Amino acid sequence: KKRIAVMTSGGDAPGMNSAVRAVIRTAIHRGCEAYAVYEGYEGLVRGGDYIREMTWGDVRGYLSIGGTSIGTARCARFREREGRLEAAKNMIEAGIDGLIVCGGDGSLTGADLFRAEWPSLIAELAEKGHITKELAEEHKHLYICGLVGSIDNDMSSTDATIGAYSSLDRICEMVDYIDATAQSHSRAFVIEVMGRHCGWLALMAGIATGADYVFIPEKPPKKEGWSDQMVSIVKRHRERGMRKTIVIVAEGAIDNELRPITPEMVKDVLVDLGLDTRITTLGHVQRGGTAVAFDRLLGTLQGVDAVDAILSATPETPSPMIGIIENKIVRRNLVEAVALTKSVAEAIEAKDFTKAMNLRDSEFCE
Ligand code: ATP
Repeated sequence: KKRIAVMTSGGDAPGMNSAVRAVIRTAIHRGCEAYAVYEGYEGLVRGGDYIREMTWGDVRGYLSIGGTSIGTARCARFREREGRLEAAKNMIEAGIDGLIVCGGDGSLTGADLFRAEWPSLIAELAEKGHITKELAEEHKHLYICGLVGSIDNDMSSTDATIGAYSSLDRICEMVDYIDATAQSHSRAFVIEVMGRHCGWLALMAGIATGADYVFIPEKPPKKEGWSDQMVSIVKRHRERGMRKTIVIVAEGAIDNELRPITPEMVKDVLVDLGLDTRITTLGHVQRGGTAVAFDRLLGTLQGVDAVDAILSATPETPSPMIGIIENKIVRRNLVEAVALTKSVAEAIEAKDFTKAMNLRDSEFCE
């Protein structure tokens, strides 16, 4: 019987539980033994009770629980070969040959590295006598599959990451609350939203709430006079009778010289304009709560496909990453998706913003 394990890693995202539930139940349904690795790579490195066999009932109710119930962590040890060697030993001891990782680009980079190194890790373990030659032979191939769980929607090769729409929904709800008070007092609010180096949450929230202005890293304004366009738009809206002003700033917002644009800087400009201005940093509420229906579906459909991808993989198949493109669940080359994602950050660093926007391979920044 094949043993398939699932883990969640990196930042938590609503919908990860749906993915875990789908993997566990699909694996059991397909006649495999299903395992969960608790606490991300930390659990893999620690082994023992962190790698647990799961039953159908163990994931009951997971669809409507936010965050990730099997835990997640950042694990420095897994970044070192010694940590990955320990992880390989623990996986072999648990008899696991298929691993489904649900996390952001960091987690998926780690997963890919683990697979690439696997033969040499196994050889080293056998050489040192930690595992028998028979076990080394039996486990000479590791099958990995990536699911993208991240609120940021920052991964290339998929239109949506698990958790992004839940986070967007929460942000819109919060902006609506702020709208009410802004409207009452005729105030301006500068709202900082998450997303790291990706402006998807900020831009989509701006559109969905009708914000006056949005700052995103992919389309940075000029270093000199970046405030002019915002000021003219805000002024125009006020002249047309709007009693409130909402400006959304992505946490990674920068100008075209890569200097951060902070909510404080934006506030100063609005104050100079004579507006009573407040800053609201939404913070961790953006990660919280239960997943919206879309993320439950995404986690479930992708979890099912991840198990099938593992079951149909051959030693020659490149590790897949499950994505969604134009409403279809698709498999993409995990290494290429991670590389493409990294090249967006590199393009921004090189101040080639047109390339960065094109590479996002999503129409959102146009
Ligand atoms: P999020 O986008 O939510 O931050 P992430 O998966 O990108 O999620 P990271 O902190 O970058 O989050 O990665 C999570 C874990 O994956 C790390 O703590 C580490 O254990 C592992 N990891 C990340 N990058 C690598 C790497 N290059 N090599 C080995 N392991 C890695």
